[in-house]
Amino acid sequence: MPTPSNPLKAVRGTRDLLPPDTALWNRVEFIARSVFSRYGFGEIRTPIFEDTSLFARGVGEETDIVSKEMYTWEDRARAQSEKAQSLTLRPENTAGVVRAYIEHNLGDSGQLQKLFYIGPQFRRERPQRGRYRQFWQIGVEVLGPVSSGSESPLRDAEVLEMLATLLDELGVKNWQLALNSVGSATDRPRYVAALKAALAPIKHQLCPDNQRRAETNPLRVLDSKDPADQALIDGLPKIADYLDDSSREHFSQVRAALDACGVPYTVNPRLVRGLDYYTRTTFEFTVPDGSGLGTQNALLGGGRYDGLSEMLGGPRAPGIGFAIGEDRLILTLQAQAEADAAAKAGVPHSSQSHRDEWEAPKLDAYIAPLGPERNAAALALARELRRAGLSVEVGDGSFRLKKSFEAADRAARHIVILGEDELTSGILTVKTFATGEQVKIEKAALVDRLKS
Ligand code: AMP
Repeated sequence: MPTPSNPLKAVRGTRDLLPPDTALWNRVEFIARSVFSRYGFGEIRTPIFEDTSLFARGVGEETDIVSKEMYTWEDRARAQSEKAQSLTLRPENTAGVVRAYIEHNLGDSGQLQKLFYIGPQFRRERPQRGRYRQFWQIGVEVLGPVSSGSESPLRDAEVLEMLATLLDELGVKNWQLALNSVGSATDRPRYVAALKAALAPIKHQLCPDNQRRAETNPLRVLDSKDPADQALIDGLPKIADYLDDSSREHFSQVRAALDACGVPYTVNPRLVRGLDYYTRTTFEFTVPDGSGLGTQNALLGGGRYDGLSEMLGGPRAPGIGFAIGEDRLILTLQAQAEADAAAKAGVPHSSQSHRDEWEAPKLDAYIAPLGPERNAAALALARELRRAGLSVEVGDGSFRLKKSFEAADRAARHIVILGEDELTSGILTVKTFATGEQVKIEKAALVDRLKS
């Protein structure tokens, strides 16, 4: 039973986003939408839950996500027309987008599909700063039939260049792009076999997690951050030595296009990423330690998935995409703003002080009715002003005048006082906080006054 000393709380790993932080979330999403539209992307919204088999097939049974992190339940049939089904809260959005691409025959147009999404994803991970069980991703998928140019390295480079532009426009500082190629569907098995062979004699020296990965998904050993295992992992075979000519050429063209655009990157041969569907280009954008993310310093990740559509029973539709961790992006921007403010002032700043930058601008007016009997008139006046396009807050007639002034000063640029005199004469008292000026004006002139 919840009690005042033991009230109900949000579930572990989930959190409420409150104002003024939500203003920053909206600003980030606004900038993302505006950048995406300049690159010709349209929005897609797929369901938050899908058939479990979509993720088992699309993301891969052996991945951490599918093997231990999904929120899955048996959904019982409620009518004869329904059948019992295993459903899962989406742990990522690429599989859902490709499912929708197949279901709606988006490839039939022959056009490249450029889609973006913004929404929550769900993974039962161990919660920590920057890692939540419900988190938000802003992502993009570019896919289509081969004839639409979907396989071209130009697409990879364009997506990466767009990300560089987006992060710059958001004001993210010091981001780093790490790039790799994990090869084609034929390169990968050869490399995995070589990896397994190299791991066999040294496996027992690795941490228990890596011992397990060496068996089930050897590529994941390369992702490991376990400090004790790093020297051994660095000595393992490199995927670059197992790429066939076409994968090698593809990767070099991606890099050449990035060089031409002046987008900086480093090649990280260990970047294989956790999801099974990646082929050829994989990438990650990180921010340096001390950027507010603790150990979770990956802002976003993505890559090419040339075989995913076929894995889900669809036509051939090579593609590339990424997902930005929006929670992490916000933490980074907040930490940066705090550091900037501290540098400017020369003293450490509280997290509250910089928030003003993201808060919505002050309202145009605060209407203060003097006495409860003027509440209705105050609301009617607010209605008129709001319909004229002004942003307005209404106080309450039970407030003392001093309290109304304080509330108005916090919320708005002007206070409009509504007393008996004002109602009978049609003349209103307006005070402008920035100048301290107080005037009596006709109601007809009110809108212009409040806009000023
Ligand atoms: P992924 O879908 O695993 O490739 O992840 C893409 C991005 O989503 C990562 O780089 C993170 O920024 C973000 N992300 C993944 N898992 C979480 C999580 N549990 N909490 C917050 N952000 C996450």
